[in-house]
Order: sequence, then C-alpha cells, then structure tokens
Amino acid sequence: MTTKTYYQPRSLDEALSLLAQHGPALLVIAGGTLAMPLINEGVSMPEQAMGLRRAGLNLVHRADGHLTIGATATLTQMAEQQEIPLLAEAAHSIGGWAIRNMGTVGGNLFAPPPAGDLAAALLALDATVTLADRGGRRTLPLSEFFTGFMMNVLRPGELVVGFDVPIPTGKTAFLRYGRKQANTPAIVTVAAHLVMAGQTVKQARIALNAVGPHPLRARNAEAALAGRKLDEVSIGAAAVAATEECEPFTDAIATEWYRRKMVGVYVRRALEQIA
Ligand SMILES: Cc1cc2nc3c(=O)[nH]c(=O)nc-3n(C[C@H](O)[C@H](O)[C@H](O)COP(=O)(O)OP(=O)(O)OC[C@H]3O[C@@H](n4cnc5c(N)ncnc54)[C@H](O)[C@@H]3O)c2cc1C
Repeated sequence: MTTKTYYQPRSLDEALSLLAQHGPALLVIAGGTLAMPLINEGVSMPEQAMGLRRAGLNLVHRADGHLTIGATATLTQMAEQQEIPLLAEAAHSIGGWAIRNMGTVGGNLFAPPPAGDLAAALLALDATVTLADRGGRRTLPLSEFFTGFMMNVLRPGELVVGFDVPIPTGKTAFLRYGRKQANTPAIVTVAAHLVMAGQTVKQARIALNAVGPHPLRARNAEAALAGRKLDEVSIGAAAVAATEECEPFTDAIATEWYRRKMVGVYVRRALEQIA
C-alpha cells in the first residue's frame, strides 16, 4: 500500500477544507468496500486518503413526512427502515452482512454497474441528493445525479452529504433477480412506487438497476401507467416500454439480450405485486 497520509475529519467543514486543500489527489473513502480492495490490490495508489466515517454524516432522521439520510449512513441502517419497505428491502438485498455494515448509502452511487440497487430504490422514492463544497450546498433530484457510466454531476471539491426521501404514500415493490438467492450481483433490479387514486394510477415511479450505465428511471414505463387503470393492459404496456428503454449490457453474469428480456418479466411482476 502506498498511502502515506490518512485523514479522519471530525466534521463536514473539516472534510471539505481538506478536499479543497488537496484536490483530486485526496481519495475519499466512506465505508471502503469499493475503495479498499482497489488500494489493497494496487489498482488505486493514492498517497493521501480521507475517511468520512467520523465526519458526522451518518445520521438518519425522520420528521415532517421525510426521511433524511446522511451520506455515510450504512446499508444496515437502511435495512432497519422497516417503515419504508422499499428502502429496507433494497438494502437487505445488497451483499452480505459485512458489506452492509461497512458500505454506505452515498457510496452506493459510486458503485459500478450492476451495483446500485439502493440507488434504484431511492430513485423510485423521488429522493433528492445534497452535494456540498466549501462554497455551499446544492440539492437536486437524484435522477439528475447520474450522467453516464461511472459519471455524475459531482464537481471537484464536492462531497455527497445526504439524501431526502419523502415517506412514500403509495404502494411499493422491490424485486431483484440474480443467479443466486443472496450475495450475488443483480441481473435486473426493479423498484416501483405507485400512488393510486382508487383504481387509477395517479403517479408512477419505476427505477431499474443493472440494465444501464447507472441506476435509471423507466420514464416511458411510468408514462404508460399514469392516469390509467392498473390492469393487465397497462401493466403489459409498462413492461414493454421498460424493455425498450433500458440500456442493458453483457457481462460475466448475463447477456444484454437476457437482461432486456428479464426487465419485461420483472417490471411486470413488480406491478402485479402492487396490483
Ligand atoms: C462483495 C460486494 C458485494 C456487493 N453487492 C452489491 C449488491 O448486490 N448491490 C449493490 O447495489 N451493491 C453491491 N455492492 C456495492 C456496495 O453497495 C458498495 O460497495 C457500497 O455501497 C459502497 O459504499 P462505500 O461507502 O463502501 O464506498 P467506498 O468504497 O468508501 O467509496 C467508493 C468511492 O465512492 C466515492 N464516495 C463515497 N462516498 C462519497 C461521498 N459521500 N461523497 C463523495 N464521494 C464519495 C469515492 O470516490 C470513493 O472512493 C457490493 C460490494 C461488494 C464489495
């Protein structure tokens, strides 16, 4: 290992000052589940690293119909959010206990596909993400955070500081399909949140993971449901739309063709579960 200096800031201000001082040469580490293996294997060789675990960013707080989540809240903390099953189920589906105990919510945004299952749940819940640098904070819809494969809107000097999730008022479903039951990368993940007015879908949110360059909203599938009765016809239309709009890839786990096929199957199943 080449790392010579390891900083452990005790506040967000201190962390942002260190980042401003050292720039991109300072590797940010939250839980370390992605960063540490790369360092240990010599793939990443930062001379300086900064651990965020003591910067006071791990609070999870519920008030006024919203859940506020600090960026370094762990996946285990999310798995404990039983009042928001979509979050709890998504977090519980990720890795094993060790990964969930160390891995953070903020870190999940930076995990290469097919990871990003928690981010998909946050997208379906209309979460916002707050970014900060020494100049101030900005909050944006999480759907605007990702810009491409391992690319996002984070500027040099900025950190992800937290998330705001409106407590869902509708029905949700989380389905994750992999080659094994647990501790396995996803072939497709579907997170759905439907707000109903009687039999009619008032608002639909469908997010997909492992079938694109990053976790994404299936907006055409959402449009196929909004204002319609939730029945076989609208569910079928949403499943077809999601199949067409996803951007799957081939890797060691599944082919692009199979991933796309499974998007249709799992979007349908998620919506049928809600229906
Ligand atoms: C064995 C294993 C199994 C896994 N299985 C799954 C799975 O099934 N589904 C899934 O979705 N994910 C899975 N993951 C990925 C896991 O979710 C991520 O490893 C975890 O969420 C990353 O969080 P972390 O805090 O450990 O990131 P770290 O390793 O600490 O950080 C990685 C990088 O993210 C950036 N970063 C992190 N936090 C911030 C921040 N607050 N501000 C700015 N930049 C930041 C930094 O550039 C940092 O170097 C798995 C990982 C492993 C190792």
